[in-house]
Amino acid sequence: MSYLAGNYNRKKISFKKGSGSYLYTVNGTKYLDMVSGIAVNSLGHANPKLLEALIKQAKKVWHVSNSFLIPEGEELAKKLVKKTFAKHVIFQSSGTEATEAAIKAARRYFYSIGKPQKNRILCIKNSFHGRTIAAIFASGSKKMTEGFGPKVGGFDHFNFGDHKGLKKAITNKTAAIMVETIMGEGGIKVIPDWCLRELRKICNKKKILLILDEVQCGIGRTGEFFAFDKSKVKPDIVPIAKGIGGGFPLGAVLMTKKVAKAMTPGSHGSTFGGNPLAMKVGSAVMDIISKKSFLNNVKKNSKYFHNQLNKLREKYPKIIKEVRGRGFLIGLQLYKDQTDFIKKLMDNKLLTIRAAENVIRVLPPLNIKKKEIDHALKIFHKVCSSYKK
Ligand SMILES: *Cc1c(COP(=O)(O)O)cnc(C)c1O
Repeated sequence: MSYLAGNYNRKKISFKKGSGSYLYTVNGTKYLDMVSGIAVNSLGHANPKLLEALIKQAKKVWHVSNSFLIPEGEELAKKLVKKTFAKHVIFQSSGTEATEAAIKAARRYFYSIGKPQKNRILCIKNSFHGRTIAAIFASGSKKMTEGFGPKVGGFDHFNFGDHKGLKKAITNKTAAIMVETIMGEGGIKVIPDWCLRELRKICNKKKILLILDEVQCGIGRTGEFFAFDKSKVKPDIVPIAKGIGGGFPLGAVLMTKKVAKAMTPGSHGSTFGGNPLAMKVGSAVMDIISKKSFLNNVKKNSKYFHNQLNKLREKYPKIIKEVRGRGFLIGLQLYKDQTDFIKKLMDNKLLTIRAAENVIRVLPPLNIKKKEIDHALKIFHKVCSSYKK
């Protein structure tokens, strides 16, 4: 019997500590962690640099109201702006708050230029932008919205890859297109670079905003700081979260100058967003992940992982259908339901997590060592060989 509500289907296992790429259960069993709290523990568990930042700040001041200047927030905002397309930042405490703030910023922009009727957001059907009332209706997923009506209006949808449907869905009421650069929960589906560039062109032509949700795929996960970096596309608004706090709850929405101008005093706020503890941890994460050498290492190691997983797919073509994703945002798509496979990986002390379309998500910490990748590969081989060919 649990006093927690039953809104999660939890695996019957718990951990008492973590170190680097490993988690240790209460009775001391060691697991290689390729869930990373769903792309959150970007620098592994108990990272000394993050610990130092957290403890140092914890002894000074944890929280102050946003009605005062917060230098720790100025510092992190500056780091984010210097590294990205953005000119301004609003801090939040989670991903869904960041996507909501993104939606609010898009609407507020058109309001501020005297076009309040442009307020609809166009999203991909069955995408994932979080679990608040607005975000679930943005996702257009039947499963996520079931029982949570009345329907929140203001969202339109097109199917992934349906370029004609996308163009048709844009009306004179559309304010923005909001998509995940790589669909995470949806099964690690990458929007190709040329499609991102097309999206940008369409948005320019229709004079609407482009919101790229990088909550899961951003902050070095793909080997670039943002998943869209390689496409050279410049979005207008980008919500981030998961990886930026390295395990400390932290989200943010990054904006261009013209969008940020609409976010005038009182237009938006959050009690916890931008609190000095979160800011200092986020700063420490930024210092490490934004380095070119760090990202190059992610590229190199993840390329090796992808190559080896593709070899595995070639060896077991009846089990593994596709190796998806980019960098350390990896999806192993099976032909069958993935539940049993994930359980077998776990029996062999490797933690992974599911996504839609029979996909096993493989999300190691970005600083994982090559020999740890090799260890995981051995387990993948072992589990594959346990099935009939
Ligand atoms: C996880 C996720 C969110 C929601 O983040 P929470 O911190 O769980 O609220 C939003 N968008 C994407 C793409 C995500 O993967």
